[in-house]
Amino acid sequence: MWFNEFLSKYKSGISHEFLFYFNVKDTMDNTRNFFRYIDDEFIKQRNFGIVAFYDISRGLTFLAPEMEREFKKIAGNEASKLFFSLPSRIFPFIDIALKSTKMALFIDHAEKIVPSGDIGSMTLEERMALIWMTEWSVNSKISSVGSTIFMLADNLADISREFLNSSYRIEPILVELPGEDERKNYIEFLLQDKSTSSEISIDEFAKLSSGLSRKSIKDIKLKAEAEGVPITFDFIKEKKHGVLQKEYGDVLDFIYPEISFEDIGGMEAAKSYLTKNIIEPIRRGDSRRVPMGILLCGPSGTGKTLLVEALAKSSGFNCVKIDMSRILGQYVGESEKNFKKCLLGAKSQEPVIVFVDEIDTAFRRGESGDSGVSRNIFSEFLQFTSNTNNRGKIIFIAATNRPDLLDAALKRAGRFDKKIPVLLPEKEERAEIFRIIIKKYGINTDIQDFVPYSEMAENYTGAEIDTVVRKAYELACNMKENHPVITDTILKEALKKCRPSTQEIEFMTELAIAECDDIDLLPEKYWPRFDRT
Ligand code: ADP
Repeated sequence: MWFNEFLSKYKSGISHEFLFYFNVKDTMDNTRNFFRYIDDEFIKQRNFGIVAFYDISRGLTFLAPEMEREFKKIAGNEASKLFFSLPSRIFPFIDIALKSTKMALFIDHAEKIVPSGDIGSMTLEERMALIWMTEWSVNSKISSVGSTIFMLADNLADISREFLNSSYRIEPILVELPGEDERKNYIEFLLQDKSTSSEISIDEFAKLSSGLSRKSIKDIKLKAEAEGVPITFDFIKEKKHGVLQKEYGDVLDFIYPEISFEDIGGMEAAKSYLTKNIIEPIRRGDSRRVPMGILLCGPSGTGKTLLVEALAKSSGFNCVKIDMSRILGQYVGESEKNFKKCLLGAKSQEPVIVFVDEIDTAFRRGESGDSGVSRNIFSEFLQFTSNTNNRGKIIFIAATNRPDLLDAALKRAGRFDKKIPVLLPEKEERAEIFRIIIKKYGINTDIQDFVPYSEMAENYTGAEIDTVVRKAYELACNMKENHPVITDTILKEALKKCRPSTQEIEFMTELAIAECDDIDLLPEKYWPRFDRT
């Protein structure tokens, strides 16, 4: 927990200036906000002479009147006229106090004082604040007096990079969203008063509320109370979706999977691998066996996305999709900031499957070094995907049809435990896909056996079979608008009208086979091509 991290860093003397970020506006346990928590658990036991707060809009304030008097005594009366002024004017006086007496200083909205952006674009005011605040972090007088500085910000990426530079000793501390046990504890506390009824158990509520702060959980309860309805699965899901969408909607897609493995034709080897290595260990509670990451390789339209959704559904994990093109498309600074937010958002959904489609478009070989921004994003990404603490909690799945273009660092062992080829369906599989897709759309048909059509659909991907079925439906509607039925003639006609796009697909199939390192995941007909050297 963040507080323990802070305390151990404080005790080891690493620093006396800390930057708390992310979920800092939440309640930290059942009742206390950030300041109350620090006050009770840290300040009260340690004899601070002055406890003061500064933020741009409220200026300098004190916990108690005698502390204000003490401050004026130390810093001089002149200081008291400047309590509401900008950092450059009041910080010199705060500086005196920090060095003279044991003082705890809270600086809220640190990002407003030392905002991100390159140093050249900072205003003079911001530069002066930066100088004071960085100087405090390395000042030995301050540490010997025992003064401690607590800065707060919602997002680390909003803070000047210069400020977090390693030549200063400002320690960033991530205040995480509550974990499942903490949420459970809080929900128990909230529902004690019996003002709302709940149709689901506390355990279920705790599970469902992943990614929410205590504040948002409380909001859900208050909304149910105000609307006079009981808390139900759907009520939480709807409210949660609203909160997450508002918070992360610009960088993450939340997927609520509807399909299971039975809704995917073929892919037996992949399904069996995922069942044995992910779904079953998770059910047994043996998450150490679960791979950290999986790379799905194969031509577009072969059902890679479907596979991820079905895996999420069967494993009970949440599922988020990162759209890298949306993140990288933003202007410099913004994309980096949003990427950080996106990873935190993804992490907040633990246990979660994080899906990145078309990963090659974001992290191409040799290209990630081009600009500072994409390099930062890339290394952030590498760090996130190789963090073994996430094993069993975050499964990272990427899909690509051009594995040859991926940056080597990304493919190195440890990051993707498995590379699964997802190739064109075989004859029997295609027949199954025809049947599944017709059923999915709820279209009537008098066809029992799809094998003859699947023979005509050689080299079609699942997505192309989907197109054929929709074409057939269109033809069927043209014939009998009120009661469209896909018949033998219609399906054959549709097959004639839709062609597969062979060339690219052959090439992508080659690439996926070349990438595969486990023959068990390869259909038998490709075995002779499996390179054992
Ligand atoms: P990819 O992610 O590999 O590009 P998708 O998973 O998005 O492919 O598949 C696109 C569409 O093609 C799906 O929505 C589905 O209708 C159809 N499809 C592809 N493969 C299959 C399959 N094996 N079984 C059923 N439908 C499939």
